[in-house]
Amino acid sequence: MSGSSPLSPILAVGSVALDTIKNPFGEVSRVVGGSATYFSVAAAFFTDVRLVAVVGEDFADRGAELFEGRRIDLAGLQTVPGETFRWKGEYGFDLNTRETIYTKLNVFEQFEPTIPDAYRTSPVVFLGNIHPRLQLEVLDQVEKPHLVAADTMNYWIEGAPEELREVLKRVDILIINDAEARELSGEANLVKAACVIRAMGPSTVVVKKGEHGVLMTRPCEGEFFAAPAMPLEQVFDPTGAGDTFAGGFVGSLAACGEMSDAAMARAIIYGSTIASFAVEEFSLDRLLRLTQEDIKERFGLFRRLTYFDEG
Ligand code: AMP
Repeated sequence: MSGSSPLSPILAVGSVALDTIKNPFGEVSRVVGGSATYFSVAAAFFTDVRLVAVVGEDFADRGAELFEGRRIDLAGLQTVPGETFRWKGEYGFDLNTRETIYTKLNVFEQFEPTIPDAYRTSPVVFLGNIHPRLQLEVLDQVEKPHLVAADTMNYWIEGAPEELREVLKRVDILIINDAEARELSGEANLVKAACVIRAMGPSTVVVKKGEHGVLMTRPCEGEFFAAPAMPLEQVFDPTGAGDTFAGGFVGSLAACGEMSDAAMARAIIYGSTIASFAVEEFSLDRLLRLTQEDIKERFGLFRRLTYFDEG
């Protein structure tokens, strides 16, 4: 897990979805979502991404408007008969709580990821939130990557715990939200939870805490690095913020090719920066209009947000 030339491209597997989202501002139906979608669009601001996923015929030509013109290779995106993965979530009034109304795996039920030959030597693999069996099937088809990062969700922690444990043994960095970290570890305290999870395999655990930011713990001198979330007046739809964070974080690491303390901290801030845009509008709407200049400007605001001198 070290070096200073780019570790690129990233091979990313996860869901590509049609989401229905209800929040205090309204409801949208069948908008594009999915863990791999948010991840890939975010990571492609930093490096090349190879997307592995499946959609149904109802996805039609939405892939073109999303992925074309970006650093995203679609040779591993299959279209098969049937319906695309569907998920519905409903948010409470402060947007901090979310209930899953349904999860319909649809075409993911029969999906067998086939990694194109050219993808097998990808130096970085991101296992987005999807059935851990699929995450394992992807890992089985690649030559040992330099870096494996993963995400998961309560749905899989509860539904496929044994396969998830197998995945974790093969992961370097787990990116997970606070509720999931507590559920996976059985520990209420997040520091203890991260410690228990590290004993399951990942040497680095990044805990996403929504509007309260991110806590990373890893084997280094200080052990912890924390970042706040960007204070935003306009938070519209937090869906996909976690996957977008992961895309910025892993994308930044892959682009610089280093796992030093400085590179890891910078990646946390890039992840937080890009996630702060994702929440400003429904679906991927804001991310699709995002520019490198926007990212650079907000990255600068992050620096000011936490800067202090010793006096
Ligand atoms: P996040 O808000 O970062 O947790 O990600 C939300 C996205 O994850 C939505 O676009 C959903 O389509 C997708 N999603 C929700 N549940 C699952 C699941 N069980 N497996 C894979 N993807 C999911």
